[in-house]
Amino acid sequence: MQISKVQLEQVDRQIKRLIAADNFYGKKLRDAGIDGVSTVEEFEALPFSQKQDLRDAYPLGLMAVPEEEIVRIHSSSGTTGVPVIIPYTRKDVEDWAIMFARCYEVAGITNRDRIHITPGYGLWTAGIGFQAGCERLGAMAVPMGPGNTEKQLQMMMDLKSTVLCATSSYALLLAEEIAKRGIRDKIHLTKGVIGSERWSEKMRNRIRTELGIELYDIYGLTEIYGPGIGINCKYDTGMHIWEDYLYVEIIDPETGKNVPDGEWGEIVLTTLVKEGAPLIRYRTHDLSRIIPGECPCGMHHPRIDVIQGRSDDMMKIKGVNVFPKQIEEILASFPELSSEYQIRISHLEGRDTMRIYVETDGTVNFADIARRVAERVKSKIGFSPLVKVVELGVLPRSEKKSKRVIDERFE
Ligand code: ZN
Repeated sequence: MQISKVQLEQVDRQIKRLIAADNFYGKKLRDAGIDGVSTVEEFEALPFSQKQDLRDAYPLGLMAVPEEEIVRIHSSSGTTGVPVIIPYTRKDVEDWAIMFARCYEVAGITNRDRIHITPGYGLWTAGIGFQAGCERLGAMAVPMGPGNTEKQLQMMMDLKSTVLCATSSYALLLAEEIAKRGIRDKIHLTKGVIGSERWSEKMRNRIRTELGIELYDIYGLTEIYGPGIGINCKYDTGMHIWEDYLYVEIIDPETGKNVPDGEWGEIVLTTLVKEGAPLIRYRTHDLSRIIPGECPCGMHHPRIDVIQGRSDDMMKIKGVNVFPKQIEEILASFPELSSEYQIRISHLEGRDTMRIYVETDGTVNFADIARRVAERVKSKIGFSPLVKVVELGVLPRSEKKSKRVIDERFE
C-alpha cells in the first residue's frame, strides 16, 4: 500500500497550512526545511510526530487555526506527566461524527437501533464520539457512561438496547452479571461495538457467546479525532481505516522504516483534512499490520489487524519482531498449560535466545509439551525458543504483563 496522489496533495496542503499558522508543528517543519511534499519519497522522509511533541505543545500549541474557529478541546488521559490537548474545529467535530456513523453503518447498525453507550464522557474522547456518531446515524443514544452496573442492566432491559458500546473488560463484566442474574432473555442486544484495547480471542469468544451478539472492534485515539476512525466489517478481516480522512503506515519501531504490507510494526497515522490540530506521521505506538489484499466486502479502505500491544513491549529476536501477545496466544492454544508464563531473552554465544517458562500439572509429559510448544512458535513466528516446563504454581503471579518478559540482554 502506498500513499495515493490525492492523499499526497492533501498532506501537502496540511503542511502548508501548518507552516502558515506558525503553530508548534509549523515551526518544527519550517526548521526542518520542509515546505511541502509532492512525491512518495518526500512523504516517507517527513519527520515523525510523537506524543512528547504534543506534551511540549501544552496547552494549546497545536492549534492550527484562529481561536474563533475552535469549538471544543479534548485531552488524553495523561496517566504520566503532562496531558495532551487537542483542539477541534466545527468541521473536525463533524468529520469525526461522519466517520463514526460510517463505523456503525459498516457494523449493520441503523436508525432503528438503540445504542447503549458505556464509555466515559468528558475530556476524554470516548463517550461523546460514540454519541455523535449515533445521532448522525439517527439511532437512539442511551448515554449511560461507565459504572453503576445495576442501573446499566435496568436501562438495558427497559429500553431494549440493541447495541452495546463498551471496553472489552466492561462488556465482559456486564455479560457475567447478566448470566449471574439469569436475565439473558430480557436483554435485546444484537451487537457490540468494542473499543480496540488489546484483548484476547478467548475474551472475545466469551463476550460473544455469553451475550449472543456480533462483535465489532473500533479503532481510534484522542490525538487523531478519537474512536471511530476505523472498524471491522462483517467479514471480520481486520479494521478498515477511513482513507479519505487518514493515511496509515506501518513502520519498524526500531529503524523507523516502512515495512511491507502484512508485516507487523507500529501504526503511524497522518490526518488528511483535519483543521484544529493536524498531525503528520504521528507514531501511535500501537502494534499491528496492514492486511494485504482486498476485503470481500468490497470497501477499499485499508485494513489493520487487531492491536497486538504497544511497540514499547516489542522484542527483537534473531531479527524477527515479536511481542508478548503472539507468544501468549500460542500458549493459550495448549489446554494443558496454565495461563502463567515467563519469557526471558538473553544473548548467549553471539546469539539471541528466548526461553519460555510454562506451567503444567504432573499429568503430562514435560519433554513432549516443551517440544510441541517450541514447534508451534517456530511455525507461527519463525524462530525456535527454548521451552522450559515447570510445575503448576512455580511461576510468580503478577497482574502486570510487563513482568512476564525479562530482557536480560540489557541488564
Ligand atoms: Zn471489509
